[in-house]
Amino acid sequence: MIPRKIAGREIRTIVSSIADMSTPMVVFESTTHLYWTKADTHQGSRGYLGGGTLLKSRNCRAVPRNPPSLKRFIRPRGARMRATNDEDVFDITIVGGGPAGLFGAFYAGLRQMKTKVIEALDQLGGQVAVLYPEKFLYDVPGFSKVLGRDLVGDLVRQATRFNPTIVLSERVVSIRKLDGGFIQLETSTGSKHLSRNVLIATGAGAFYPNKLDIPGSQEYEGRGVYYFLRDKAIMRDERVLIVGGGDSAVDWALNLNNYARTVTLIHRRDTFRALEEDVSQMMRSGVTVKTFCELKEVVGDRERVTGAVIADNRTNQATKLEVDGILVNIGFRADVGPVKNWGLEMIGRDVVADEGMETNIRGIFVAGDIAKQFRSVKLNIIATAFAQAAVAVNVAKTRVSPEANVVPSHSSDLTEA
Ligand SMILES: Cc1cc2nc3c(=O)[nH]c(=O)nc-3n(C[C@H](O)[C@H](O)[C@H](O)COP(=O)(O)OP(=O)(O)OC[C@H]3O[C@@H](n4cnc5c(N)ncnc54)[C@H](O)[C@@H]3O)c2cc1C
Repeated sequence: MIPRKIAGREIRTIVSSIADMSTPMVVFESTTHLYWTKADTHQGSRGYLGGGTLLKSRNCRAVPRNPPSLKRFIRPRGARMRATNDEDVFDITIVGGGPAGLFGAFYAGLRQMKTKVIEALDQLGGQVAVLYPEKFLYDVPGFSKVLGRDLVGDLVRQATRFNPTIVLSERVVSIRKLDGGFIQLETSTGSKHLSRNVLIATGAGAFYPNKLDIPGSQEYEGRGVYYFLRDKAIMRDERVLIVGGGDSAVDWALNLNNYARTVTLIHRRDTFRALEEDVSQMMRSGVTVKTFCELKEVVGDRERVTGAVIADNRTNQATKLEVDGILVNIGFRADVGPVKNWGLEMIGRDVVADEGMETNIRGIFVAGDIAKQFRSVKLNIIATAFAQAAVAVNVAKTRVSPEANVVPSHSSDLTEA
């Protein structure tokens, strides 16, 4: 259970969790503040165990929400040194903190493996957290319907149950085998990590939104122009313009309808790439849809966006709209990045794995969207990522402890402390 309130403020989600070797931390966010607390304090709190009504504020530290402070906050002083310049050898190091990596971390803890997760971004959750935190998922086993951000919150809580070391904001750039069988990973900060096994769970790689190149678009990025929304609260009661005709654009239009003051969606064609049902729903909703329309200029008062110039691409006739926020959803590019230089057998953008999710390099496993299991159908969904991560970790366990059974005992055998 996530506490519903801390110090009277409603908690929206766990944004992240970090565990260095001595001080596991859990981080929460409300719309106005970030909170962190030691994981053991948190778990020991009556508020937490008692259904999450109120986590005692004296057990937490809070700072106003402010993205630049987030890094400092989720990486408490000293944690980085211990976590990243670690001479210790880990049983398994998981590259990527998306659904595959997080579930792999939980399973590795269940198998009592010394576990580290290295994530390039400053948050966990992968595509779900970055691309669609406010969307509902309907095909995650055990949930008839779950909001992306809630799923991430639960995955993070599950993954940190056994206190893995979590390193954020470091991108793994190289992986190589050393004499003696250990594997060395080097990250973008130059730090080195040693491990007996590696699980690559880098998904589709790093995401880059396609950006607009029109007057005002760069100047107002983050000050009214957004390429993805981590928290829809910034659009509450605002006049919002959405640009795009794919799933994300239409989903956001529906999501913000009746939440923002007004929602206008423009699309350069009259055919949409989104689900037909969603498009029909949008057409019936209060969203103003303008087809054959393109954004030409972002207008602002130097501080923030105040308007947008749009034009009909058939007639070139321009119109000025008064808006407070512009959400641009014109697609993403994914870059698998350095993975292709790690000596792994690949088919296109996928790393090839055997039936135990092991790659052509012994001790290096793969799970999730990046994986292509030999002779199996590739299904890039979260359920597949979970299953693959569990298989990979259980096989890796037998490499650390050859006497261990590859088949684990059931998690339902666990007893609560
Ligand atoms: C819009 C959208 C809607 C979707 N809806 C659903 C749905 O309803 N149901 C469903 O099951 N699936 C859905 N999916 C697919 C699902 O999100 C993916 O299958 C899932 O996220 C894959 O998980 P993953 O852990 O393999 O990879 P990812 O989620 O991509 O996570 C990989 C992580 O690795 C990190 N990383 C990458 N390279 C490095 C590096 N070199 N070093 C360190 N870290 C690195 C990335 O920053 C990222 O956080 C959807 C996807 C999209 C885009």
